[in-house]
Amino acid sequence: MKCPYCAHLESKVVDSRPSDEGASIRRRRECLACHKRFTTYETMESLPLVVIKKDGSRQTFDKSKLLNGMLRACEKRPVPFSQLEGIANEIEQALQNEMDREVPSARIGELVMDRLREVDEVAYVRFASVYRQFKDISTFMSELNKLLAEK
Ligand SMILES: [Zn+2]
Repeated sequence: MKCPYCAHLESKVVDSRPSDEGASIRRRRECLACHKRFTTYETMESLPLVVIKKDGSRQTFDKSKLLNGMLRACEKRPVPFSQLEGIANEIEQALQNEMDREVPSARIGELVMDRLREVDEVAYVRFASVYRQFKDISTFMSELNKLLAEK
């Protein structure tokens, strides 16, 4: 990191903290030559995430799609939008932190279900039924019974 005062290339970090909700890191640096301090912002590299769908096709991860799916499941349920937004952000963050840039859609579905189950059971069952594409009423009932048994 080049010192803006004397153009020296070496500096030491005296303080660093996340800013912009963790999307970038603000660092206070001190030039090793002139000892003046300056601030740098480092944005974390965010490579696009690719979702592998069931049929093997690829799609760029789209958080709004994820959010829409949850909204549909939470229709007329007492779940605040901000909470769903939080879940979507959390899931995106979790996926971003993984080394693999390609994520099977099944894995994302599981992550959503894990969280929805804690938020609202009706929303969870709705999401699961769309997501798992319950073929008949008996698969649906067995899922529902599993849920009830855990209570
Ligand atoms: Zn300097």
